[in-house]
Amino acid sequence: MSRIAYVDGRYRSHAEAGVHIEDRGFQFADGVYEYFAVFGGKLADAAGHFERLWRSLSELRIDPPMSQAALLMVIHETIRRNRFKDGAVYLQITRGVAPRDHPIPNPAPAPTVVVTAKPVDYAAAEAKARQGVKVLTQPDIRWGRCDIKTVGLLPNVLAKTAAREAGAYEAWLVDELGFVTEGSSTNAWIVDAEGVLRTRDTNANILRGVTRKQLMALAEDAGVQVSQRPFTVAEAKAAREAFITAASTFVMPVVAIDNVVVGDGRPGPISERLRALYVENARATPW
Ligand code: PLP
Repeated sequence: MSRIAYVDGRYRSHAEAGVHIEDRGFQFADGVYEYFAVFGGKLADAAGHFERLWRSLSELRIDPPMSQAALLMVIHETIRRNRFKDGAVYLQITRGVAPRDHPIPNPAPAPTVVVTAKPVDYAAAEAKARQGVKVLTQPDIRWGRCDIKTVGLLPNVLAKTAAREAGAYEAWLVDELGFVTEGSSTNAWIVDAEGVLRTRDTNANILRGVTRKQLMALAEDAGVQVSQRPFTVAEAKAAREAFITAASTFVMPVVAIDNVVVGDGRPGPISERLRALYVENARATPW
């Protein structure tokens, strides 16, 4: 079955869909994106993803191309045309097309809107979560506005590539003081020696993960103590448990950091419980 993508008002074959060569997303990475998990044809954690989308656009002074209700209709139609129930949606909005020149064009061009959708084998993802994954630490060399979800991801690309070449699934980015900021496309968490769930605070230069925020609330409801206190790589290696979160991985246990085994080398009980809670909640409240 051929995939269908939405590009600026038209549903086109994925292989033939394209944007202009002077799109500012292509020229300057001048655009933002969101990635949603899809359950039963609907979006998981949609409120949080839309809230962050509007904020990212506003921070870059890109006018919303359409209302949230219209965008939701486009996304649902893209899912429908791709004929799957469980999968993922990628949404990208760039500043649009203008002659190549660094300053933000005035008047503003019409933003470019792209939506793609694909099925995901969530049974295989569950099997992966039962094994856990390895991470590799890398220096965090990104810019100072990682709270904006822009498509400028080259440091993330290089870090993830280093991880994959070392046989790890994800890279954990480390600041100049030796503290973990986040993963290359995930937030980073540990259960420390005292049993406290720790993840970096959002005053730091990290993406405000939608999964992170939802999980923090679910963990507190479940009676797990959560602290937004930075942790070092050494603390992470000595932690009881570690995991990563993202819309693409939910809660994915980490069983080794730089080839140092975490805990007993198997996914920990808190990580597994939080994964189950997160997935149950996300499946129960889709848009
Ligand atoms: N951190 C980074 C750098 C990311 O790119 C992502 C997701 O793409 C996340 C964290 C996780 O965010 P979310 O839970 O909203 O998917």
